[in-house]
Amino acid sequence: MTEEKVLRIQATDVDTNGVWHWDGKEIPLLGRDIPIPENVRLEMDPERQEVLMLVNADGWLDMCPKCGTAPAPGVILVTEFTKMYPAHCCNSMIWMTDERDNNDIYEA
Ligand SMILES: [Zn+2]
Repeated sequence: MTEEKVLRIQATDVDTNGVWHWDGKEIPLLGRDIPIPENVRLEMDPERQEVLMLVNADGWLDMCPKCGTAPAPGVILVTEFTKMYPAHCCNSMIWMTDERDNNDIYEA
């Protein structure tokens, strides 16, 4: 069994280009698999999901869901099933998972 290091990504460490600044390194998150916290994942979703695109937060959100800053600053990282919003306004990592019913799940 391999033990995986759990890296805590701070919201303010992810810049508006979706680049994660960590330990002196710059790690672009676009195209990378990121670990999705268990409490925001639906049961059937994979633990790691690839960041498919970046969108401007103000195109998706009227305001920061946490502190109400409007327009919502920064970017949202979109994976197949989850959206990760590093909110710089309140240094919060906000996760959004769409509600789905099983009828929407297709097996390949
Ligand atoms: Zn905020």
